[in-house]
Amino acid sequence: MEELLEQILSECRPFIQKGKVATYIPELAKQEPNDFGIYVQNSDGSHYCAGDCTKHFTIQSIVKPVLLLLALMDNGVEGVCAHVGVEATGKPFDAINVSDKSLLSEHFNPMVNAGAIVLCSLLKGESYDVRFERLLNLVRQLADNPEIGVDEAVFRSEQECGYKNRALAYLLKAHGLLQDDVEAVLRCYFRACSIRVCSRDLAHIGMTLANHGRHFKTDERLFPAEYARFVNAVLMTCGMYDGSGEFAIRVGIPAKSGVGGGIMGVVPTRMGIGIYSPALDEKGNSVAGIRALEQLSKRMYLGIF
Ligand code: GLN
Repeated sequence: MEELLEQILSECRPFIQKGKVATYIPELAKQEPNDFGIYVQNSDGSHYCAGDCTKHFTIQSIVKPVLLLLALMDNGVEGVCAHVGVEATGKPFDAINVSDKSLLSEHFNPMVNAGAIVLCSLLKGESYDVRFERLLNLVRQLADNPEIGVDEAVFRSEQECGYKNRALAYLLKAHGLLQDDVEAVLRCYFRACSIRVCSRDLAHIGMTLANHGRHFKTDERLFPAEYARFVNAVLMTCGMYDGSGEFAIRVGIPAKSGVGGGIMGVVPTRMGIGIYSPALDEKGNSVAGIRALEQLSKRMYLGIF
């Protein structure tokens, strides 16, 4: 297995050239484009890795499935669906409403920025610092890694230069879709995106989702299976943004990408996968990372269709 992973990395490495590291968050521009790592966690407890699989990077949008999970744990399915839709937008992750119609919650889903910003406002906690700490603790628990923390430099960079997210959040407020103080919600959202992880952490989180809510190591039930099915379904249709349809055909598993270069893959009942390769395509998905997942899926028959 380790040999297969090494082989996939060397075959996919040339695709790094086709992408670029994110620069719209200045701190992310400092990433090394040639870093490439993969970690696979199987349901039987075995795990395999190749390349830079313990290298740290920011979780970015891969926090969105965890945010959705916590919002479901706090509010139930109906409580979440009253505030955010589940249909694919077919638009970039940070798209602003350009129609002349009033913005409604059904216009976005939990995997695009507007949806994730609204999800922050659904978390329970007397302050936004408490809400963020609860989210961070869930990430740590799912990843089985109490050391996970925040990359403060990336957080500051997002906070200073997150113009589009700020515009989006104020638009949500203007349309009555966000009740709380916009800056407090955004701070929580930016901190969530700035959580530092490695490919192994993502594989662990993916395996717990694949395990339908049972901890990948202890088998302890962390959340109801119904919520895992909800999250995995949304990942399948919206996890790779406006690249989700093509990804479903090429790879065929629920997955989530982030502009930090990570991808988390969920193979229901079988496997959690974490990949890191920060050179992105124009949709914000890791080019070599998608290629590696495609190869792994083909060779191990992972596609769920
Ligand atoms: N922090 C990033 C943003 O809000 C997350 C986006 C992403 O990973 N696609 O723009």
